Amino acid sequence: MGGPGCAEVVGLLTDYLEEELPAGRQRGVEGHLGGCPRCARWLAQFRATIAALGCLRDGRVIPEPVLAALRDSFRRS
Ligand SMILES: [Zn+2]
Repeated sequence: MGGPGCAEVVGLLTDYLEEELPAGRQRGVEGHLGGCPRCARWLAQFRATIAALGCLRDGRVIPEPVLAALRDSFRRS
């Protein structure tokens, strides 16, 4: 045990998605996300936000699944 807590995981999400954490840390965050619905929801929201921003930047239409994920995460937060 002794994995990271929620606050720590949220703070590490950016690095986690970019796979910039040391392997042990990466696994710790992954393990926490697997067992914590709240942080898993954060991750989904984070990913959707990043995807949406990428589309805006490139002048592409934001795909419906991304919009749906954003709407969903904001509604439930
Ligand atoms: Zn958590």
